[in-house]
Amino acid sequence: MQKELKIKCLKRLFCVLTAGLFLLSACQKAEQGSVERTDLMGEIEEVESDYEYGFVAESEHGYYSWERVEYIREPSDLALLVFMDIESQQVVPLCNKPDCMHDSEECNAYYSDIHSFSNEGMDKHYIQYYEDSIYAIGLGEDDYVSLFRIEADGSEWEESTKLYRTDYSSTGHWRVPEVLVADGYVYFIDYKQKSMTLTRMPIGGTKAEVIYEDDSGAEVQVHRVKYRNGSVYFQVVTFPEGKYELHEAALYRYDTADGQCSLVKEGIYGSYSVRNDLVYYVDENGLFCYSIQEQNEKTVVEQPLDYPTVTLTEDYIVLCDIKGDGTLSFYDYEGKEVATVSGALRPLLYLGGNSDMLFAECTNDNVTRLCFMDLKKPLDELQWEDFQRD
Ligand SMILES: [Zn+2]
Repeated sequence: MQKELKIKCLKRLFCVLTAGLFLLSACQKAEQGSVERTDLMGEIEEVESDYEYGFVAESEHGYYSWERVEYIREPSDLALLVFMDIESQQVVPLCNKPDCMHDSEECNAYYSDIHSFSNEGMDKHYIQYYEDSIYAIGLGEDDYVSLFRIEADGSEWEESTKLYRTDYSSTGHWRVPEVLVADGYVYFIDYKQKSMTLTRMPIGGTKAEVIYEDDSGAEVQVHRVKYRNGSVYFQVVTFPEGKYELHEAALYRYDTADGQCSLVKEGIYGSYSVRNDLVYYVDENGLFCYSIQEQNEKTVVEQPLDYPTVTLTEDYIVLCDIKGDGTLSFYDYEGKEVATVSGALRPLLYLGGNSDMLFAECTNDNVTRLCFMDLKKPLDELQWEDFQRD
């Protein structure tokens, strides 16, 4: 899982290697401009969905997820794929077999779960919807981490793309990679690498292409990969001499059209989000908006913050205080706090969402389950609700 990052220390810039070969001139240090507080609404055009971790997949009709109700039911060798209809908000197993009771392996909604330690199966930490199909990650044949493609109605599935081979057979464990499907490619980070790389492979293809790597010999973590408007954004954390207290973090961008990789900004340690060419990020002093084009930033919220997770919706900037009590704070784009939401269901892991719906893994009485927040409700009625079958 991603590391929460707090301490700022050594500043050192590592330039980007594309395919491990050439140092690019596009890799340049961004200038920090004047900091001023303004109304940012005029600069914003469109809003894309803004998910963290990839636990929830969004289609035009609803939301898919692996059932995430831990500790309630007996541990199972099976993973259940569920679907929430966008209108009715009803959660059902993703199975269209006539007369199916959805309670056995025969049901289309059940898949082999890798956590059963069988050698093949799906992992419940990633799901994504892309061009009419659902994509999942798991272990396939011969210890390969593979991308699986599932029909949107759950009727068929196949191993789509073998990403890389693990040592699962000999060690008995593997680490789920971070995965993002975009622009016909699957982008992935093998979390078992000491110096992580961001690699991509065409969906259904075999040729891997390294998008980002660091050849300095330092321990490097790459994470928080997001796709926005033709660019893949990702965060790089470097640990000089392997020392955790000396880590430094920066945000990079890979332009899928020209294949150029460039540094966006150094010093982005926590959660970030991108809207058009504006990067919203937090540090201990507040919430900032950095313009990639103009290379300057504005303060949106000026108050001490403990690295909350940021989601951008049509009307609000949502900050989830995941390191504290899980309270959600809603700000307008002028930086004014308009609502806070906390309650009996407390998010342990905040998953972001879109302008209509937010998601989290919530806890209540030692039970962890997926929950959602319906943003179509009035601000004073917002609350977390169970994303659960009836
Ligand atoms: Zn069924």
